[in-house]
Amino acid sequence: MTHERPTVSVVAPVYNEEQLLEEFCQRVAAALEPLGEPFEIVLVNDGSRDRSPELMRAIHARDPRVKAVSFSKNFGHQLAITAGTDYAQGQAVVVIDSDLQDPPEVIPELVAKWREGYEVVYAVRAEREGETWFKTFTAALFYRLIVKITSVNIPVDTGDFRLMDRKVVDTLARMREHHRFMRGLSVWVGFKQAGVPYRRHARKAGDTKYPLRKMLKFALDGITSFSYLPLQLATYMGFITATLSLIFLIAVVGMRLFYVGDPVDSAFYGQASTLAMVLFIGAVQLVSIGIIGEYVGRIYDEVKGRPLYIVADALGFEDAGRPYSLRERQ
Ligand code: UDP
Ligand code: MG
Repeated sequence: MTHERPTVSVVAPVYNEEQLLEEFCQRVAAALEPLGEPFEIVLVNDGSRDRSPELMRAIHARDPRVKAVSFSKNFGHQLAITAGTDYAQGQAVVVIDSDLQDPPEVIPELVAKWREGYEVVYAVRAEREGETWFKTFTAALFYRLIVKITSVNIPVDTGDFRLMDRKVVDTLARMREHHRFMRGLSVWVGFKQAGVPYRRHARKAGDTKYPLRKMLKFALDGITSFSYLPLQLATYMGFITATLSLIFLIAVVGMRLFYVGDPVDSAFYGQASTLAMVLFIGAVQLVSIGIIGEYVGRIYDEVKGRPLYIVADALGFEDAGRPYSLRERQ
């Protein structure tokens, strides 16, 4: 089999998307064929429990431009994207969801911007259809918060739908942190970046694979990857409490010296206030320990140095399926 190096790779994570896979591949191919450049579609099966893996095999047999990486279990969306970009061989790599929320028809626009010389072209959700108000609201809040508290300027309202030049993909391939927030990392690396607005559609079929629990973990990964602010909050709270206690102490001593009633009684107004303060300080301390815990847990995951993902099989790749972006190349 001869291998022609594709110009464009399209990477899509797949987790129980049997209803949409065929249509997804067809629409991507239909969008890319008019460009007249060789392309590949890299599907990453993130431990699906439905018929997605069989479908991927069948589509690959019919059309070898569609390649398939299968994980040994579910590793999560961000790691599926990572594997896809590791395996992709294109000069430009496009990451897109396989649920057709991101229309493949936008890809040629991203490619056009890349041809103008931009190295990261992210798609900006100008409109979102078919999301619950809760998701839209929390997402809007989150992206604005993360811009405020981090040093990377993550563009507001972007997802993982973006095109990256080979240089960017190779750079990301050398960054093996475990709790990956890809949309942040691809901005953090720098290079020439541009945005293209698009309309994000409703999911075509199936349900979201991001329940609230996963969304929260994702948000925490994003914040802890790029900000120390939560840790510094404990310091700030400490300073504020210290200042307030000092003022209080001076007041109590003053009252004692100048005999303005009984300082303990008049300052505390009974037991309940003492109890409230003790509980409040206890709560603040527990929250602070929890925040430290979030960071320590992530440090622990890095120190263990386990692989980011485990590939059960890879279909359609040359060189015994060794990820292209991780190879030594000249
Ligand atoms: N996905 C994945 N692994 C997961 C969860 C999701 O590979 O553990 C894929 C999923 O198949 C889809 C993309 O990631 O292509 C985005 O997930 P989803 O559409 O469920 O998230 P939402 O768009 O609702 O935020
Ligand atoms: Mg989706």
